[in-house]
Amino acid sequence: ADTATQVLAVENLTVSFDGFKAVDDLSMQIAEKELRVVIGPNGAGKTTLLDMICGKTRPTSGSIRFRDIELTGLPEFQIVRRGVGRKFQNPSIYEDLTVAENLEISIPQAHGIWASVFFKRTAQVKERICSVAEQIMLAAHLKTKAGTLSHGQKQWLEIGMLLVQEPELLLLDEPVAGMSPREREQTAELLKSIALGKSLVVIEHDMDFVKWIANRVTVLHQGKLLSEGTIDEVQADPRVIEVYLGH
Ligand code: ADP
Repeated sequence: ADTATQVLAVENLTVSFDGFKAVDDLSMQIAEKELRVVIGPNGAGKTTLLDMICGKTRPTSGSIRFRDIELTGLPEFQIVRRGVGRKFQNPSIYEDLTVAENLEISIPQAHGIWASVFFKRTAQVKERICSVAEQIMLAAHLKTKAGTLSHGQKQWLEIGMLLVQEPELLLLDEPVAGMSPREREQTAELLKSIALGKSLVVIEHDMDFVKWIANRVTVLHQGKLLSEGTIDEVQADPRVIEVYLGH
């Protein structure tokens, strides 16, 4: 991708934990409206990579540029504010609140976190809640308590809680883990619809799911970039075959 359409540039990124390099001299770029999948064996450094992009883990060296901004060293809340949303594996929704309330408290400066539960919503806030609820397939469940949703619906709600913040880049850690085949299909459609307007970096193990969604795939191994390309390209790469099927 040329720099005009480039959203994220990771350069020579390294992080050491007690001398062990979990991510080792990694460089990669993400383009506008790209849906990138990161794969690799357990311990390859996938989660650590997302942790560094969102500011949860500080790199030992290297840089992470988002648009024109150097993210390295910024605190997490400032990275969120600049438009990078992160979803972890376990949903962090408020089970006792409704779907609409969960979405509303995620809107920055809607009313302040808890006040929003008690006061009337502005038309603008309502509009944003409804359009996101529609996108995450929960429009019929706005008044449903989040705790009673299915596992898949809870994952979608959490993605919705990121979408109301209108991020430019979404980082998702195994979004279909534990989902039914039908929910996986619906999640694939959801991610593709998000990618019409935003960039995504998704960690995923399920190769069928990867085939449905990925524009490009990055393969990590022992903290390093092993291969990158279309799904067909990386699956035909002897280095990838060696790592997945070798030994
Ligand atoms: P993946 O997500 O690809 O399974 P991780 O990024 O979770 O891999 O981990 C990469 C490696 O870094 C693993 O060997 C893991 O044990 C190690 N690691 C991750 N975080 C820490 C930490 N905070 N302290 C020490 N080691 C860590």
